Amino acid sequence: MKTWMTIWLGVFWMTIGLPLGLAQDAQPGSSGVGDIYYPDLGNGGYDVQHYTLNLMIDVETNFLAGTAKLEAVATQDLSAFNLDFLNLKIATVLVDGQTAPYVHEGRELTIQPLEPLATDQAFEVIVKYYGFPQPTSPESIPFEMGWNHFGTGIYAANEPSGAATWYPVNDHPTDKATYTFNLSVPEGYVAVANGVLEQTIPNGERVTYVWEARDPMASYLSTVHVDRFLLDETRTEDGLTLRNYYPERYLQQGIVAFRRQAEMIAFFETVFGEYPFEVYGAVVVNSSFGFALETQTISMFGREVLFGMGGDAEWIIAHELAHQWFGNYVSPAQWRDIWLNEGFATYAEWLWYEYNYGSEELENLVAEEYENASNPFWVPGRIAEPSRSDLFNAGVYNRGALTLHALRLEVGDAVFFDILPTWLQRYADSVATTADFIALSNELSNRDLTGFFDGWLYEDALPPIEQLGLGSTN
Ligand SMILES: [Zn+2]
Repeated sequence: MKTWMTIWLGVFWMTIGLPLGLAQDAQPGSSGVGDIYYPDLGNGGYDVQHYTLNLMIDVETNFLAGTAKLEAVATQDLSAFNLDFLNLKIATVLVDGQTAPYVHEGRELTIQPLEPLATDQAFEVIVKYYGFPQPTSPESIPFEMGWNHFGTGIYAANEPSGAATWYPVNDHPTDKATYTFNLSVPEGYVAVANGVLEQTIPNGERVTYVWEARDPMASYLSTVHVDRFLLDETRTEDGLTLRNYYPERYLQQGIVAFRRQAEMIAFFETVFGEYPFEVYGAVVVNSSFGFALETQTISMFGREVLFGMGGDAEWIIAHELAHQWFGNYVSPAQWRDIWLNEGFATYAEWLWYEYNYGSEELENLVAEEYENASNPFWVPGRIAEPSRSDLFNAGVYNRGALTLHALRLEVGDAVFFDILPTWLQRYADSVATTADFIALSNELSNRDLTGFFDGWLYEDALPPIEQLGLGSTN
């Protein structure tokens, strides 16, 4: 891509000459934002403020015609910049209203504004595109992520890098933005996305659903769902709107499975602080895909959450809800830091369990999980440096949660339950690293916990069970 681009740009500049202006020394933005594990993800040189995604979706054929408008600010003098975008055909690219040349190869869409952009300059990019979006197989996870058409409906599950399968994007958590979704679907279908449903506009045989996501959001948490959903809308005692979308034939099962959501929010607010967004809810996809995802303000679940999971559904519902604080409000600065999402959401499940059954039962659970984590075939160590080809391995969940329980015992409840809300306040609407968490724990405990965290996060062997307040079982 680089070589081809360089030749192409050379010809371009020779033809029109260097424009005069403040950005004479402008350079192309980088094709990656600096993720240590996945250097292609995201792009450098600009900061997206807002996405407006106008998507015309044909559910039966999976044809998508889109117009994406990105409002961004240059963070360097830019002669060109990249967006992440996969497979779909591009009709036009405009920068500040002017047609701009581009090269689209693999994941990278390289756009050449007619005049270089100066540092701090606000600019607007419009990309018109169309095609039949397909999911992608990221290096990090054994699932097909992104836009999925499952016959009777569509869902988008992006983590970590699937957003680029359906819109051009700076696809990394370090560039959060707000979103407007204008989703045109055939009459009879319901289109769901993040945020608040502002309008439903009938237009002949189609309907446009207008969703506004006003809270800053990482691209991997954006989502779209189209199906014949029924809505169950309620309010918590504090007035937070909960809107749950279920496949029409499963409304009753959905209401039963998700009945404790408001109580979970109230409990987590006592531990983590106020729910961080303007709305919450769940969408149940009429397909079984073996995972759930904490898509911001509207967690998504496969229909298996309604059936055959025994009591497990409640764990998963609590887990995805807890991610709204840990993962969504404060996101990982590097994908390597994924235990900051998964370890914390898993420990939130355990706190919900403790709330329901008491601290003795929590202790039994911790003992069981320690045993699971002791099996090196099941749980690899070094959870703050997980394998880049198996990012979501069981260790980042289970050993991550054990790490937090050990920290709680190490510093005491008063300090531990100060660390959690302080972490959220300090890095609100932003990103943070493992080093940031260790630094905060040191600060609030007034101790040097480096050795403690080394043992739990950076060594293969599990620290001794005594660190969990349990005796050896041998
Ligand atoms: Zn999770």
